[in-house]
Amino acid sequence: MSTWGHHARRLTADEIDRYDRFGDVCGAAPKCQLLATCQISYEYRTGQRGRITISNRRACDGHAGKFAAKHGITIADAPDTEPASMGIIATAAAAWPAPPTELVTVRRCGNQWMTTFYSLRGMTAGTGWLPSLPADVALAEITQHTETMLAADHRLVPLGPWQLTGDGRARVPVAKAEDVDAWAHHRWAVTVHLDGSYRPMWVATAMLGPAFKVRTWALGHTNMDRDRALRTTPGEMGPSWTLGEWTRTGDTASTTATYRSVA
Ligand SMILES: [Zn+2]
Repeated sequence: MSTWGHHARRLTADEIDRYDRFGDVCGAAPKCQLLATCQISYEYRTGQRGRITISNRRACDGHAGKFAAKHGITIADAPDTEPASMGIIATAAAAWPAPPTELVTVRRCGNQWMTTFYSLRGMTAGTGWLPSLPADVALAEITQHTETMLAADHRLVPLGPWQLTGDGRARVPVAKAEDVDAWAHHRWAVTVHLDGSYRPMWVATAMLGPAFKVRTWALGHTNMDRDRALRTTPGEMGPSWTLGEWTRTGDTASTTATYRSVA
């Protein structure tokens, strides 16, 4: 297989720390379990249509050195600023001038009620059924149930009263609770603990209130202890959060935090 565009660079301290916390060791050789300190990449052509693919791998010092020597390149320094870790969609959403406002519509559909989400740009973001409620339930009760569901499943709150559209539908503009003035200065309850429900993982959770969907960040599952989890939390939660002093109790810790949307 022909490959080209070989490149190697050192990982930043934060990247090394993060890969270590998630057990992402050197991926340059099948059995190498050493700490990843570099990123090695190259391009190659795949499939009958010859699509160009970029291979990106983590590598330890030794395997990165071998890769560089084999391809006659030097290992570049780590970038001065941390590479963006957010996905393309999250990055795009963060760059919007205002928090995205969505519109929620409920309407009768046969013998059930259906909820539809619309994004600001008019695209349908999602639909859901309210199957436990029969069609002859009053619209006011449907909207009440919908608000409860929006908070519990999506942390969305209404921005005004519901509007009846005259064709059996009702709709309301909504936004994330943390982007609404009424909740913007509310303190979140933050905890850090080892979550063993599926596979042991240190997590941080932030709860705005009992009615709202909890936010969760994975902190790592390898070479972890409580204090490393705490050191890691501000970076994983991101710059929108201001955390208070931690109260440590055994394997858990708690504090409160404020959230401010940063563009
Ligand atoms: Zn290696």
